[in-house]
Amino acid sequence: MNSIINSCIKCGEALKWIPVLFIVSVLAWSYYAYVIQLCFFFIQNTVQLVFYFVIFHVILFMLAWSYWQTVFVPVGTVPKQFRLSSADMERLDQATTQEAHKQIFEELASNLPVLTRNPQSVRYCEKCVHIKPDRSHHCSICGVCVTKMDHHCPWVNNCVGFANYKFFILFLGYAFTFCVFIALSTLPFFMQFWRNELSGNGKFHILFLFFVSTMFSVSVVSLWGYHIYLVLHNRSTLEAYRAPIFRSGPDKDGFNLGKYNNFIEVFGDRKALWFIPVFTSMGDGIIFPQRHMDEDEDSLLGARQRWMEEGGPLEADNSGDVTSPYHTVNLDPLVQTV
Ligand SMILES: [Zn+2]
Ligand SMILES: [Zn+2]
Repeated sequence: MNSIINSCIKCGEALKWIPVLFIVSVLAWSYYAYVIQLCFFFIQNTVQLVFYFVIFHVILFMLAWSYWQTVFVPVGTVPKQFRLSSADMERLDQATTQEAHKQIFEELASNLPVLTRNPQSVRYCEKCVHIKPDRSHHCSICGVCVTKMDHHCPWVNNCVGFANYKFFILFLGYAFTFCVFIALSTLPFFMQFWRNELSGNGKFHILFLFFVSTMFSVSVVSLWGYHIYLVLHNRSTLEAYRAPIFRSGPDKDGFNLGKYNNFIEVFGDRKALWFIPVFTSMGDGIIFPQRHMDEDEDSLLGARQRWMEEGGPLEADNSGDVTSPYHTVNLDPLVQTV
């Protein structure tokens, strides 16, 4: 019985890769159609051929690199300091009233750098048995709480969140550039096709290249535009649907530091690396600078300060490269310029 269940689980895991395989197949076909068919069979002018050939490869390389990073970078998970100990769980079991539960959670959260909450109390994940850091959410597909979760994307078979958000936006940006470049460079050949001036079977590849690239560029640009809007307003997709709740109440702009600061929070402060798919986002995915703090929130600054001084999630379960230590970030300039 167990082996059947295991086979089903493995089968389900394999099926999740189908959208990724679809994207890889489309890219592989576009390579064949553009480089082999268009560049080598239809373009006569050497200068034009070299120009198309080089630009195509540069954009494709950046697109593939961003996509690889989005797919394979592990999602940012919650540090062990947020996990409830067995003693905490015992206390919760013994607490009989909702009020008593609430009090225990409030007490546990007072030692952690959390500002957001649900309408009732502290945000807690029953499945992962930990208090949720600000902006993290449980992904039922990944089975873990993901830091600054944006959404689970089947096209990358991964959660898009703090660890790979920059890569995801670059992937969309390079995908759009790739499609526009193909659509524009195949347009003259597409016109020739309609005038019946192209011969050979390769002409159908040109026809499809033009249609597919135009179709994808329209669909990708809308998603890319929406995510640029979210970056500039410092909201995740989930927060755009439901505003984070602070002690003072829901505030959809609670993390909004101004457009430039919002941008560098995701893309980093080194301009040379903005468009390169290497991790440069500010922070650790646990603490996020805020637009303003009311008095209650201000009293929590002590916990935030201690957290940073103690090195934050450096001792986290999986503190890999993607969750860079927060001490590399200077919060003050971010907040002061708001
Ligand atoms: Zn969880
Ligand atoms: Zn997920």
